[in-house]
Amino acid sequence: MTANAVLAQAKKENRSVLTEIEAKQILAEAGISCTDTQLAPVKEKAVAIAEEMGYPVVLKISSVDITHKSDAGGVKVNLKSKEEVEKAFDEITTSCKTAYPNAHIEGISVQSMAKPGLEIIMGMIKDANFGPVVMFGLGGVLVEVLKDVSFRIVPIEKADAIEMIDEIKGKKLLEGYRGQPPADVPYLQDMLVKLSNFVHNTPQVKEIDMNPLFAYEDGAVVVDARIILED
Ligand code: ADP
Ligand code: MG
Repeated sequence: MTANAVLAQAKKENRSVLTEIEAKQILAEAGISCTDTQLAPVKEKAVAIAEEMGYPVVLKISSVDITHKSDAGGVKVNLKSKEEVEKAFDEITTSCKTAYPNAHIEGISVQSMAKPGLEIIMGMIKDANFGPVVMFGLGGVLVEVLKDVSFRIVPIEKADAIEMIDEIKGKKLLEGYRGQPPADVPYLQDMLVKLSNFVHNTPQVKEIDMNPLFAYEDGAVVVDARIILED
């Protein structure tokens, strides 16, 4: 589906939360690279998608009612065979139905497993005074505990993106740390500009959360995305 089709569908259903699959479709169209992610309403379909995609794959609950998928037992990574996919499908379904008995579950998403990289977060929120602002930070503990993030008012240019990344306290991690390869910082700068351009041109989007994306020596890929629309 195209971004416009996704937005129209959500509007028709009177729904302000997009699924991870929809969010990734929209971001991909905006030029932001995301893991290949497809919906499996039933187990047989999950296996078929996995076989087509190639192992290893990741399975995740797909429900607009479940925001924190891992907390609900809704994420299984590094699945390497048909049997592992079948088992993960059942386990995810059971634990999410237990944790959220009233959630509408549309199925399970099957996605290609991204190789490990430096965890980054990017997003957009709307500030009451400044309007849309884009956000950049290093993922995991650094963002949760240290709130090490930077913000800029949309629209931004390349020079702003350079500053945003430079302001991060943990930026040394991007240069490669303790044997870790450095991250492709110019690629991340471009992603921020693309995010800003998309937000600038799509006022019906209220909030974007890419958490995390994995940064590599060459490129980066979004593994989890969430988009909320204006009411
Ligand atoms: P949550 O809703 O809990 O934030 P995520 O989709 O972020 O769920 O998945 C939890 C974690 O699983 C991520 O932080 C990431 O480390 C890992 N993960 C998720 N999707 C993928 C993927 N496609 N490839 C590799 N790792 C993934
Ligand atoms: Mg996440």
